[in-house]
Amino acid sequence: MNQNQQLLIKNILQAPLQDNPDQEITYAGTLRFTYAQFRERVARLAAMLTAQGVKPGDTVAVMDYDSHRYLECYFAIPMIGAVLHTINIRLSPEQMVYTIGHAEDDVILVNSDFLPLLEQIRGRLDTVEKFILLSDTEETPATSLPLAGEYEALLAASEPLEDFPDFDENTRATTFYTTGTTGLPKGVFFSHRQLVLHTLAGVAALGSNATQGRFHREDVYMPITPMFHVHAWGIPYMATMLGVKQVYPGRYIPEVLARLIATEKVTFSHCVPTILHMLLSDPKCAKFDLSGWKVVIGGAAMPKAICAAALDRGVDVFTGYGMSETCPILSLAHLSDAELQLDRETQIALRTRTGKALPMVRLRLVDDNGAEVPSDDKTPGALQVRAPWLTASYLKDESNSKKLWTDGWLNTGDVACRSAEGSLRITDRTKDVIKVGGEWISSLELEDIILQHPDVAEAAVIGKPDLRWGETPLALVVPKKGATPQEKEIAQHVKSFVDKGVLPKEAILLKARLVEAIAKTSVGKISKVTMREMYLKDGEE
Ligand code: ADP
Repeated sequence: MNQNQQLLIKNILQAPLQDNPDQEITYAGTLRFTYAQFRERVARLAAMLTAQGVKPGDTVAVMDYDSHRYLECYFAIPMIGAVLHTINIRLSPEQMVYTIGHAEDDVILVNSDFLPLLEQIRGRLDTVEKFILLSDTEETPATSLPLAGEYEALLAASEPLEDFPDFDENTRATTFYTTGTTGLPKGVFFSHRQLVLHTLAGVAALGSNATQGRFHREDVYMPITPMFHVHAWGIPYMATMLGVKQVYPGRYIPEVLARLIATEKVTFSHCVPTILHMLLSDPKCAKFDLSGWKVVIGGAAMPKAICAAALDRGVDVFTGYGMSETCPILSLAHLSDAELQLDRETQIALRTRTGKALPMVRLRLVDDNGAEVPSDDKTPGALQVRAPWLTASYLKDESNSKKLWTDGWLNTGDVACRSAEGSLRITDRTKDVIKVGGEWISSLELEDIILQHPDVAEAAVIGKPDLRWGETPLALVVPKKGATPQEKEIAQHVKSFVDKGVLPKEAILLKARLVEAIAKTSVGKISKVTMREMYLKDGEE
């Protein structure tokens, strides 16, 4: 190995231990550890896993809600040269069998809530040699699973590992699977080097000069994007590097989250728009003061109506963008000090944009021939990206990997426009754009407008096959509690935006249909795939 220091996850821990060893990490306000204790627990976990037979290159999987234990695994597992597989706890049993086998998990650390599920599929988990129990109580649940022990007891019985090894920074640190609702989930993976660079760039960008949404050492951090999905956007690593107080909320229950924000004085979080909507609209959360809470919204476009509702509660929302394949963060939409002086409507438009590239990220928009489109905020192009932290390929999946990369650029599968200032605006996913005649209509823009109707709580727009037009927009609309909008009224509302010149004229072909609920993916995003299956079946009108 050369003399240069390798970029290893263990290095993320250096600064907080030096500067802030007494800072707190809490599990739902019930358990509290200092960073110094956290470091010791990481060292015990590393020793414990080694004693259980985990070797460099092995895969250790975790099935847990967001917890201090999960954060310990984020560090200890890669720090001994093993690979952390964050299992999506909401996958179907079939998909779980597939991902565990495909990732070749050797050990699974499992929250007692998921024991019944693992018992059910145990016979098909061929690679797994050991199960370790994660439990919030001291009781050992009855299970047919051969447990190697309980996490806390095993930690207590281990001597902390004295020194963490040095190795090549390109060693794989993490792996997890996309939440694709059709076909098999696809595995992505990231090295120590990639995670360290993503952490550094994220800290730089989130803590940038902008006053708005700045993430800094005085903040209190709580994730609300699950730790099993894209390392909770990598922000736990950033929070740890900054040495901030961290709050891990366990299962996401809106009232519990709102209470934790108030009692633990949380100032910085991130989530998908549907979760923010849930928090803002749940009557049980109404009594909690959310003002001053900074929230990065990503994983899906933030509708303007949700942005407005958040600002009304004093929540400082703005947008981030990325995907599983990109570690994930690619861009952020911080407002500059000058932009903070602008009127509310303009601010909402800025806060809901996709934002500007992170340091070391290059984004480009290309047409069908691969030529770059102008940055005029009007011409859409397919979004491609280069950055040091993109998955090299899909895990053991050549055919999908070929489609992921073109000439050294990763294809995001998103369509976007860019302004002259370099600020991006995702207009749709390639597969969700509604092609009406020759016109491409953004499903996101239609949803955004429908959500501005006072009687609408949630909306999803999909393309309905049409003999004459190819496709026409079908809006699936959940009314607000107690409201009874007519389907025609929604279509009329959309037409008024066509009349104002905001939407292409083909949008008047939109039909609305009132539904009880919008289908969500396992990470709480609108699932257009499911909505298409539900509402575009043969024989549907
Ligand atoms: P999945 O495909 O399972 O939803 P990801 O979590 O990787 O998995 O989702 C990434 C996708 O989410 C992006 O390709 C993009 O379509 C969408 N997305 C993420 N952030 C934003 C955003 N700020 N605005 C619009 N779309 C977004």
